Amino acid sequence: MNRLTDLTVRESLDALNSGECSSLDLTNEILKRIDEKEPSIHAFLTRTPELALQQAKAADQKRAQLKRSGAAVPKLLGLPIAVKDVLTVEGIRCTCGSKILENFVPVHTATCVRKLLDAGVVILGKTNTDEFAMGSSTENSAYFTTRNPWDLERVPGGSSGGSAAAVAANFTAAALGTDTGGSIRQPASFCGTTGIKPTYGRVSRYGLIAYGSSLDSAGVLTRTVEDAALIFDVMAGFDPRDATTMDVPVPQIQLDNRTDLHGVRIGVPKEYFIKGIQPDVEQAVRAAIAQLEEMGAAIKEVSLPHTEYALPVYYLIAPAEASANLARYDGVRFGLRVETESNIEMFKKSRGAGFGSEVKRRIMLGTYALSAGYYDAYYGQAQKVRTLIKQDFDKVFESVDMIAAPIAPTTAFKRGVHTEDPLAMYLEDVFTLPANLAGVPGLAFCCGFDNQHLPVGIQLMGPHFKEESLFKVGHAYQQVTDWHRRSPDL
Ligand code: GLN
Repeated sequence: MNRLTDLTVRESLDALNSGECSSLDLTNEILKRIDEKEPSIHAFLTRTPELALQQAKAADQKRAQLKRSGAAVPKLLGLPIAVKDVLTVEGIRCTCGSKILENFVPVHTATCVRKLLDAGVVILGKTNTDEFAMGSSTENSAYFTTRNPWDLERVPGGSSGGSAAAVAANFTAAALGTDTGGSIRQPASFCGTTGIKPTYGRVSRYGLIAYGSSLDSAGVLTRTVEDAALIFDVMAGFDPRDATTMDVPVPQIQLDNRTDLHGVRIGVPKEYFIKGIQPDVEQAVRAAIAQLEEMGAAIKEVSLPHTEYALPVYYLIAPAEASANLARYDGVRFGLRVETESNIEMFKKSRGAGFGSEVKRRIMLGTYALSAGYYDAYYGQAQKVRTLIKQDFDKVFESVDMIAAPIAPTTAFKRGVHTEDPLAMYLEDVFTLPANLAGVPGLAFCCGFDNQHLPVGIQLMGPHFKEESLFKVGHAYQQVTDWHRRSPDL
């Protein structure tokens, strides 16, 4: 058997189920590795080792009990995972990477985390994120920047950078993330991991601290597609606490070893291969598409003509929603409060001290876009163009089953290169924003390395609620390639 810390979700569950190791063994090994390597990675905002050991012991006891009585064992019993620090877990501090929530301890648990806990997971801690998930590098975290395990001088991507780095550094086989405009897929790409951004409405947002409510979706980062499917199945489903979840059946995804992709039609959007994309990124993505073709998939060039508007549309809608969502941090109900003589001063001082500069920028942009006299010109127009972007996808999915495209125009960049230029940072998101605007699912996985040995990712996007088809193709690809098996030398 591999070192316990190298095991995938599937391998961990096999080892637990066969009795090769206990959850306590696995959790102990993982905690040891985190102790040793976390000082160079900074993946976690909050670690919960005592809780993890307690949950692991309880999982082992439960397993013994169930075995004696012959009852079925919960699907993920004893599996350690990490959770992005914008998803709430009752009793564990949830900062959202912000000073304004530095001491916020939620009294509720996000539904997707609750479902995983019910299936038996062990919680290792909360991972670093850009403040309120606004960013593409974790450099907007109010606490620290997470390092990319492949090159410690570089960012892990963002905003779920802590989760991606934790998976790449073998601190965990699975870490939850959220994706509002690319925050699962882009860090997965930068760190060489797999990641699923589910269909909007597939996974409950209850307990996901809101950034852009019409765009936010919770998903997971793992080392393999098979693992992502295993966790996704459990997280997904209707939730009476989130009116935007859909009451559609969640498939119990069965992935087999078949690598024959005959009958699968994959579209390659010409608008995603633009000037400015790093040549070895394009090369790796094209090579992966050729590989899928060799496996039997029919490849066809398609067009998503409104792609170029995704960036301005997203950077109006997301800040507009954020400005409304972040109004609740007023020093009265949640988080930081700066005491002053008057209440108005208290609001101003609390918000002024609690929010970082990117969050303030977005609140201002969003408030402006929503203000009387500008609403129609900015927010209203953006909503109309959003519909056109969604219709582009609808149209393309009449003739193909899924779309294959790059995730980011570059591989992981060095810390600091975009921090002075928000627009340059926003440009990193050009290829991920459209899926969120259209609400469609996206599966990210590694498809090669650039000439600096940094991972390159590819994404498959499918029609609403067709995650299973994406998993099947991604899993087939990982059967015949080994990019996802490489790990950084830490
Ligand atoms: N980078 C994008 C932003 O800053 C997307 C972030 C996300 O998906 N949470 O808004």
